[in-house]
Amino acid sequence: MAVYRGPSCRLCRREGTKLMLKGERCRSEKCAMERRPFPPGMRTTRRRRSNSEYNLQLREKQKIRRIYGVLEKQFRNYFADAAHAEGVTGENLLSMLEMRLDNTVYRMGFAPSRDAARQLVLHNHMLVNSKKVNIPSYQLKEGDTIQVKDKSKNLDIVHTALKTLKEAPEWLDIDKVKLTGTVVSKPERAQIPVDVQEQLVVELYSK
Ligand code: SF4
Repeated sequence: MAVYRGPSCRLCRREGTKLMLKGERCRSEKCAMERRPFPPGMRTTRRRRSNSEYNLQLREKQKIRRIYGVLEKQFRNYFADAAHAEGVTGENLLSMLEMRLDNTVYRMGFAPSRDAARQLVLHNHMLVNSKKVNIPSYQLKEGDTIQVKDKSKNLDIVHTALKTLKEAPEWLDIDKVKLTGTVVSKPERAQIPVDVQEQLVVELYSK
């Protein structure tokens, strides 16, 4: 599956907000949004952002895509599934993105960023229900158990990331010693700490 391989900080500068794509660095003064809080490109040719309704909706969609590291086509598929599912489409969309395996590994505190979590999954360090799963977009269900493979339990990246985990999300039950976690329930909107207006995406795709 293709992924964006360009500079992460450029995406934050493009969206004009901190998307928190690089773990600890995002909380430090090295963050590019602290030092260069303007869109990427030549300063002299910088254009003002349009405040049209369409542009606001488009930017919100891009923001969500970039936070979760999902490409356009895949994002459209998520939206289609969210629209067909019961409940509020925007909330369904965020809930599905949260329950991707890479995001869940990140939320469990086993990786400092979604990108790092993605690498852990791709390199076969994670098990789901005791079986090897190396697909970052793997959609978890309630009751699924995720764990760091025995051979990978000494990975520095996992232990360093865990030290920075302040509070586990309510929809996950995490055992920091055994390096396992269980999906207790589908995350509700209030349990998803992303500062986005998902309704704007629904409006964008409803045109
Ligand atoms: Fe975004 Fe993090 Fe880079 Fe700051 S350090 S610009 S929050 S990815």
